[in-house]
Amino acid sequence: MSGTEFIPVNEPWITEREIEYVLEAVRSTFISSEGKFIREFEERFSSFCGRKYGVAVNNGTNALVLAMRSLELEEGTEVILPTFTIISCALAVIYNGLVPVFVDSEPETYNMDPEKIEEKITERTKAILMVHTYGHPCEVDKILEIAEKYNLYVIEDFAEAIGSEYKGRKCGSFGIISCTSFYANKLITTGEGGMCLTDDEKLAKKMIRLRNLAFIPEKRFLHYELGFNFRMTNVQAGIGLAQLENVSERIEKKIKIARKYSKMLKELEDKGILKLPTEKNYVKNTYWMYGIVMKNGVKSDIIMKKLEERGIQTRPFFYPLHLQPAFRKFHWFREEKLEVAEFLSEFGFYLPSGLTLNDEKIEKICKTFYEVIDEIENKKAIQSKDN
Ligand SMILES: *Cc1c(COP(=O)(O)O)cnc(C)c1O
Repeated sequence: MSGTEFIPVNEPWITEREIEYVLEAVRSTFISSEGKFIREFEERFSSFCGRKYGVAVNNGTNALVLAMRSLELEEGTEVILPTFTIISCALAVIYNGLVPVFVDSEPETYNMDPEKIEEKITERTKAILMVHTYGHPCEVDKILEIAEKYNLYVIEDFAEAIGSEYKGRKCGSFGIISCTSFYANKLITTGEGGMCLTDDEKLAKKMIRLRNLAFIPEKRFLHYELGFNFRMTNVQAGIGLAQLENVSERIEKKIKIARKYSKMLKELEDKGILKLPTEKNYVKNTYWMYGIVMKNGVKSDIIMKKLEERGIQTRPFFYPLHLQPAFRKFHWFREEKLEVAEFLSEFGFYLPSGLTLNDEKIEKICKTFYEVIDEIENKKAIQSKDN
């Protein structure tokens, strides 16, 4: 079947080490959330990110729910977050009885535009959720400065930026609590999983308690708080530990994949047909996903369909949260247009970006992409002649 081989948008990179640790966990009979891999994974991952404490949970969405809950914000409090991100970010706000307030994106990096935050702050605002998009760190200093000025908490979501750096500091080290996901398409995966990081011992202890039904050590089955079961299993932590052992190689691979794509597709950018990912000079982008934005007026749906027909799987960019039908019944939103995010969602998509890609596959993807673009541009040329 060579030549028609299907290339998925992502494929996790699993080595023998993961298998070894999974077997070890299973053989030990510690297959629940008890067992030595959990603490070890929490310690290694938090120190990799430059944080004191790590609290492993069962997925990234719940990491955000837990972080938000641990701050004990009053019901109805407003939380500022980007509109261009995954719905998990807004759900974590809503599930805690809080109100999401959405901010538009920067056209360059697709991250929350720091210039558009202050206009959204009211006396009910108590927190900002900063999210790094597709591997490119957001404007951390500007966001922290605004948060300080208005006395707001900052929670960081670095699920897409494990290993990325902002001015020499690792993502996952900013704000009061940082949350990540270890879903199968993330740089480090445990299949399903997530973690909250903090330097605050009290918050760490609170999150450890809340993730485990708010049991207390002093008296079993006595509860003072409403907790959750957000526990990660020892088997998952074993996978995560194995993944951490070659994390530098993972990061290098991602960067190498992006460089190769950019080199091969630069011609299309030079011709004004599309925009490739960027990297501001004071950040390290780990290119979680290799995102492209069409500039030739052709919607990403059309390109994606043509690529799929030729065996290349892609994904559209996020659908803006302020337009989500699921949120319409709430009365939070003033009629607003967040133009950049709306544009991105119509014209953006990402190419296969998994760690199992090699030069040969990337070359095949780019060759196919050029064919698709040629077909579209030729059709446009014919149409304009006909008119
Ligand atoms: C993947 C992701 C999440 C959600 O993680 P799950 O483990 O799938 O629940 C949250 N935030 C961002 C930015 C993500 O990319």
